[in-house]
Amino acid sequence: MARKRILITGAAGFLGSHLCDRFIKEDFHVIAMDNLITGDLRNIEHLFPLENFEFYNHDVSKFVHVSGELDYILHFASPASPIDYLKIPIQTLKVGSLGIHNLLGLAKDKKARILIASTSEVYGDPNVNPQPEEYWGNVNPVGPRGVYDEAKRFQEAITMAYHTFHGLETRIVRIFNTYGPRMRLNDGRVLPAFIGQAIRGEDLTVFGDGSQTRAFCYVDDLIEGIYRLLFSDYAYPVNIGNPDEITIREFGEEIIKLTGTKQQLITKPLPTDDPKQRRPDITKAKELLGWEPKVSRAEGLKITYDYFKSLPQDLIEKIEHKDFSTYNK
Ligand code: UDP
Repeated sequence: MARKRILITGAAGFLGSHLCDRFIKEDFHVIAMDNLITGDLRNIEHLFPLENFEFYNHDVSKFVHVSGELDYILHFASPASPIDYLKIPIQTLKVGSLGIHNLLGLAKDKKARILIASTSEVYGDPNVNPQPEEYWGNVNPVGPRGVYDEAKRFQEAITMAYHTFHGLETRIVRIFNTYGPRMRLNDGRVLPAFIGQAIRGEDLTVFGDGSQTRAFCYVDDLIEGIYRLLFSDYAYPVNIGNPDEITIREFGEEIIKLTGTKQQLITKPLPTDDPKQRRPDITKAKELLGWEPKVSRAEGLKITYDYFKSLPQDLIEKIEHKDFSTYNK
């Protein structure tokens, strides 16, 4: 039987590259796409020799062409860290609006099922904790996070419209904070920031008083949840994340213990609109997909720390190695 064909956008990124690995393992033909603004070919270079893997360097906010049949699309292209979307706000908006429009058009044309990466950011700075899918959120559209939050909210809206109006098979995953190997050490997110600082012998920068909470999911658990959702028959959003909630200050202390660094926590100003609390309600994922996270933070952090330690020295030293300046068109 011919292999099923799947298009994965954002394929050279953190989650995209893990999805490529999973679908290759399941014997799919993987068509990978990325414009490499925040993605990195090193994440997928081990797949290039395979006959069931192809890669296109393309920006999906421009017309997307794929020749031949297509059974599935996973839309994971987007900057995804607060630092990134502050630097490339226009690109962030475009990939979540023009990009998804192109991919929905492609899905309709090919009669493919499409799953889109949404985010806990659709809940903004939430007034309820944990957040169930029914919660509509508390988002500031014109704040610094607005470019990401509103693009993702638009993405959900247009995906539902294609589902109801065109009968397209659609899936929406709301991804909560996720970590693991292949995160960019310098993307500004808290976990690579803390581990990078520990490895370089710098103090760990806690933003605000550190009482804000997050709940961190190990990447393998997340990929399993997404895989199950794709093959479910549920078109409404589903939260995938680990409900094990922790304050950022406690998290910093865990990283100090894990890495054995002699450095300490120091305080920096809290960024604008930084959510005070975040934790997924995963009742739906449990009931619909029989899914729940399996990897504890202790296990996941150990694997991730070992990965970061193994990176070449120049990646560890350099705080910023990407020039985004030409992308805000
Ligand atoms: N944070 C921090 N120090 C850092 C980077 C982030 O204290 O060096 C905080 C940030 O203010 C937020 C939390 O850690 O409250 C998670 O931030 P991240 O950027 O990882 O993702 P978010 O969940 O805010 O999208």
